[in-house]
Amino acid sequence: MDMVLDYLITFAVIYAVMLTVYFATGLTMTVINKRHPDRRIQKDRDGMKRVRGEIIASLSALATSSVLLSAGYFAQVQGWTLFAPLPLSWWSFPLMFVVCLVLFDAWFYWGHRLLHLPAFYKWHVPHHRSIAPTAWSNDSSTTVDTLIEHGFYLLVWFVLPVPALSVFALRLFDQISGMVGHSGFEYFASKSSRWPSPMICTTFHDLHHSQFHYNYGNFFSFWDRVCGTVHPKYDHLVKAMEETGQVPDFEETKVANKAA
Ligand SMILES: [Zn+2]
Ligand SMILES: [Zn+2]
Repeated sequence: MDMVLDYLITFAVIYAVMLTVYFATGLTMTVINKRHPDRRIQKDRDGMKRVRGEIIASLSALATSSVLLSAGYFAQVQGWTLFAPLPLSWWSFPLMFVVCLVLFDAWFYWGHRLLHLPAFYKWHVPHHRSIAPTAWSNDSSTTVDTLIEHGFYLLVWFVLPVPALSVFALRLFDQISGMVGHSGFEYFASKSSRWPSPMICTTFHDLHHSQFHYNYGNFFSFWDRVCGTVHPKYDHLVKAMEETGQVPDFEETKVANKAA
């Protein structure tokens, strides 16, 4: 009975932190975006019309993510995992953070490709109702969608000797970068977010929402480039933003006749 109570407290703390980060990031992005209307990527669409439904869906999806993260952490604390965690140190924390960052990006890419297959798409389509996403859209996902995309946060504890702080830091980074990546306003277009850099800017995932068949990755463009799913105009658009300082007209981003 004590163990159940311990788990429930762990879950509640993690869920409370995730909700705090969600609302703090969403409100911060809303304030910043209001001051920079010129940075809007899809100028003719207002994603904020859907915000109420997206926040309600996010409360549920963040609870699912919290179950996954807290269950994995709890299992490690109980010693139910294959390996004991590396002692937390100046090298083990960043090393395992980077290992998890790279592995999660691969997990997310393939999980996301799976969700776009006809058999799975019904669980992913609610996330795609936002053609012009906002920061609030990041976690607007069904339970099955979240279990697939965030299953990593349960599994990683069982198969790698991860210090807890490395996984918590990854989840925090993933939450904030995901919300910025859905915000619909571009601030990060630069040389470091286009080929040959594997990094991305907000336009990357915005194109996934507006044009659907491209850019499945989460943190990096690596898997999209390897598998040929990167948006054909992505690098060009980022370069144009660097050179002109302007977010290009949305019509210029369209690709003709792309088959699924
Ligand atoms: Zn998708
Ligand atoms: Zn999305």
